[in-house]
Amino acid sequence: MVAQHSGKGLSRRSFIAAAGLGTAGILGAGALSACAPTSESSAGGNTWDQETDVVVVGSGAAGVAAAVTALESGAEVIMLEKEEMIGGATSATVQYCAPGSSLGIAQNFPDVEDSADLMFEHAMNVSGNTADPALVRIWCDNASDAIDWMVEHGCEFKEKLKLSEGRQGQGKYIAKTAGELTTKLVPIVQEQGKLLSKCAFEELVVDDSGRVVGLVYRDGDDAKRIKARKAVILCTGPWSNDETMVPRHMNPLPETPKAAGETFASMGMPYGPFTGEAVRAAQRIGANVRHMEYLMSEPCYSTAELMEQGVAVAGITRTVNQVLVSSEGARFTDEGAARGAVANDVLALPDNVFYPILDGHIVPDQVNPAPEVLDKWIEGGFVVKGDTVEEMAANAEQTFGIPQATLVETIKRYNAGCAAGADEFGKDPHFLSPIDTPPFYAGPVETCIMLYTHGGLDADENARVKDVDGNVIPGLYAAGMCTGGQFGQDTVSGDWQISSVVFGRIAGRNAVAETA
Ligand SMILES: Cc1cc2nc3c(=O)[nH]c(=O)nc-3n(C[C@H](O)[C@H](O)[C@H](O)COP(=O)(O)OP(=O)(O)OC[C@H]3O[C@@H](n4cnc5c(N)ncnc54)[C@H](O)[C@@H]3O)c2cc1C
Repeated sequence: MVAQHSGKGLSRRSFIAAAGLGTAGILGAGALSACAPTSESSAGGNTWDQETDVVVVGSGAAGVAAAVTALESGAEVIMLEKEEMIGGATSATVQYCAPGSSLGIAQNFPDVEDSADLMFEHAMNVSGNTADPALVRIWCDNASDAIDWMVEHGCEFKEKLKLSEGRQGQGKYIAKTAGELTTKLVPIVQEQGKLLSKCAFEELVVDDSGRVVGLVYRDGDDAKRIKARKAVILCTGPWSNDETMVPRHMNPLPETPKAAGETFASMGMPYGPFTGEAVRAAQRIGANVRHMEYLMSEPCYSTAELMEQGVAVAGITRTVNQVLVSSEGARFTDEGAARGAVANDVLALPDNVFYPILDGHIVPDQVNPAPEVLDKWIEGGFVVKGDTVEEMAANAEQTFGIPQATLVETIKRYNAGCAAGADEFGKDPHFLSPIDTPPFYAGPVETCIMLYTHGGLDADENARVKDVDGNVIPGLYAAGMCTGGQFGQDTVSGDWQISSVVFGRIAGRNAVAETA
């Protein structure tokens, strides 16, 4: 387990405690004014612009789960969202991992079962045992219940599970629409609580005992203060767009923050909402961060040309039964492995470009682009097609320069492995379906590195944020991608969402139970 402390020697919290000073005293002396936590008796005096039981910061999966849970437990809730668009990255999501639900959707293979224990085992394996088992246990054990909770709140799922990368034939739930969760739950927050958009959280307010009692946010030119009678819950998502934190914590990848921002932008996301200020604000009152070094890149779904046109090729690489080949026409990875592992193999290619090969029985798959979408990409010269593997490969050679003979041979070998049930890259036999049904497609994907930061605030199994000494910071909770530890270095797509819902609900429930 990796814990990265925010400061050296005595933490600010321990320093404050050791010195017997309240934060107001320190601020009054001006000692920490450059990066000071806001105390109850400073920055606007004791006046509050608003008062509520629970303030939730961020309107994505974790935020809506926390807010709706708190509201339904009888609390008054204010949600802050810094963007005009509500829903964060969650508004683009569809995948949720869970071992079952009351929907009773069957696994895709008769020999495959799923359980919270299997999900836990696979999540730990995919993370290379870097994830915190105590946290993984929580989101795996509560995943099915989270799906049921979403269904109770009006969320709809497709009737077939999608094969889950990094697992052994198990499937994951696919919501009927992108952003299903926020579409269905944000109105509940608006009706029963209060949602303030274009209001960016800036600082936590602590009292003299170190308890979080409110926050400061920016509303246009004004700094405003909300008193939280019970708790503040930070649900601000990843910090992938932060131009200082990303280079500091990850292995250098040229242009990475820009590429991540462009990726979000190409998918209709506002550029740069994930800038980590909530994590830094919590650090300023002594919060610990962990797993900051784990940033997951993944093979993305767009070429630079398409991204320039604002077109996201979402879906083309998302199935484990495709074959991925290099510019040389050879396979280079286990396509059924988790995304971080595939991305690492892509990054090892000299040009970082790879080509998913699809056939007629993959294309109608529930999450692949529809044939008419593929036809548009063919017209645009981004994808080639053929009625035989040979024809597709000839077109791929002409358009992309992939040697036809090598590509044809690669597909032959892959199909032979499928027939034998043994793949040379160790692909799970459940994912081995031959590329043998016309029409056949190939198209380039450039690794534009969609970043998922897996590090963040050190929140415990109860979603309580801990300080650098391991003590709980009273009145402060965090859930979702702004927290660290629950995924380690790699995870399965769908784990992010389910974990955010699980810990959001836990945070909402526990925040309401707080007595100041
Ligand atoms: C295109 C795309 C598709 C994805 N698909 C999936 C998927 O299918 N399944 C899956 O598991 N994961 C998916 N992910 C990962 C996804 O990022 C996480 O599942 C999601 O971020 C978790 O929810 P969250 O609540 O932690 O963060 P988010 O949903 O990102 O919400 C955080 C919110 O906090 C707001 N915020 C940030 N700072 C502040 C501030 N200072 N003040 C106020 N508000 C602030 C942000 O604007 C944002 O609205 C996808 C990501 C992308 C980009």
